[in-house]
Amino acid sequence: MIHLKTPQEIEEFKGAGALSKMVLRRVGAMVRPGVSTFELDQLAEQLIRMHGGTPSFKGYGGFPGTICASLNEQVVHGIPSPDVILREGDIVSIDTGATVDGWVGDNAWTFYCGEPAPEVKALCECTRDCLVAGIEQAVPGNHLGDIGHAIQTLAESNGYGVLRDYVGHGVGRRMHEDPNVPNYGKKGKGVKLQAGMVIAIEPMITLGTNRVTVGKDGWVVSTNDGKAAAHYENTIAITNDGPVILTQDKQGSWCSMQGGVM
Ligand code: MG
Repeated sequence: MIHLKTPQEIEEFKGAGALSKMVLRRVGAMVRPGVSTFELDQLAEQLIRMHGGTPSFKGYGGFPGTICASLNEQVVHGIPSPDVILREGDIVSIDTGATVDGWVGDNAWTFYCGEPAPEVKALCECTRDCLVAGIEQAVPGNHLGDIGHAIQTLAESNGYGVLRDYVGHGVGRRMHEDPNVPNYGKKGKGVKLQAGMVIAIEPMITLGTNRVTVGKDGWVVSTNDGKAAAHYENTIAITNDGPVILTQDKQGSWCSMQGGVM
């Protein structure tokens, strides 16, 4: 069942979205060789609690972290660890969410640690463009398939893979609500979009195969061929004035994070 939000609720939602983006930005600024993903996680948790939020991911299904930190061939759901140290040329996809006033903000970004290989940067840039293309379709009267189609077309026309096993989702007072928001689809198919829907659009795009496997820890999702994957996400409200990115902070447009470095 899809929970539609009132304009008032969408306004309230912006608090969670702003904190989620601020935390993502601050954590991303800490990405450099020698830093562990556990240090990134600690910073995220401190920031969220300092600003009156609670980490949305921590304890969700038993997940131990405030952030998911997924390196290189890892697509999503990497568990932060003191043993995972970032190295020059890595990419790290950080996904985090803060709950504020009962609303869950959910956002992700793939950051560069130093200078990744050109083909890996190109993958990241395309995945970011996929997020933009998906958001553009998030308008009343369109269908979910329009979002997925836009993302899939852009990714596959550049020779990249689109995950089928993991998808975006509705967001609200729970992190995962209906509907599922696939990164693939057919124009005009699927649920019709209407004002008041809030969804997390999150393309997960791969350099090689789109086949993935869950690791021994029961969480981390990695590509079967060991090639890189990228992941970008925003929480979006569908309104009669167009898509509104709820995961925005005072530093302005999330677009200022383009390039993967800050
Ligand atoms: Mg999500």
